Amino acid sequence: MEPILVVFSGGQDSTTCLMLAIAERGAANVHTVTFDYGQRHRLEVELAASIAREQGVASHKVIRVDWYRDITHNALMDATTPIGRDPGAATPNTFVDGRNALFLLTAAIYAKGKGIHDLMIGVSEADYSGYPDCREAFVRSMNQTLNLAMGWDFAIHAPLQHLTKAQEWALADRLGKLDYIRARTLTCYEGIPGDGCGKCPACVLRARGLADYLAEKAGGRP
Ligand code: ZN
Repeated sequence: MEPILVVFSGGQDSTTCLMLAIAERGAANVHTVTFDYGQRHRLEVELAASIAREQGVASHKVIRVDWYRDITHNALMDATTPIGRDPGAATPNTFVDGRNALFLLTAAIYAKGKGIHDLMIGVSEADYSGYPDCREAFVRSMNQTLNLAMGWDFAIHAPLQHLTKAQEWALADRLGKLDYIRARTLTCYEGIPGDGCGKCPACVLRARGLADYLAEKAGGRP
């Protein structure tokens, strides 16, 4: 089985990706990389490490990109900025410029050094169209750029690309990991793991998806 490197933040999306990669390839073939970019919540980096350890992945690497916050500003890195969206702004203020490009480039450099071709990232354009680097066009273009940049055939896997949050919970359930992902992952902008604060946009999206999936599971499709 070919090894794969999962870009892993310890959130719902990337943990679902991790579980899928493990189910498909076995933990011994799954590597994880977490970026420490000065995110608001340090707990994210620690949580990612403990999930990776619990799941018995082949390796877990933390890469520090702590200069990132010196050159860009957004609410995810600055705890004094309230989460929100200016009516006139193209993206929510939680959007981090260039994040997925930076993460994929860095992950690819690391992967090539380990002889790995396959990369996985938990981007989804179904629920969060405000983030340009979650779009399929970006992922495809980045894949091509990485291949050209390094003369190495990468394959970027984005299995959540077209899934809604409800479909993502369904996938977690099929993998037998719904309860684990619900309890252990951190998606909340306030830094509260599991079901989170229940109020921020990330919690609302996550809770709505879960409620939709659970209602569908209980009652069958209308
Ligand atoms: Zn929250």
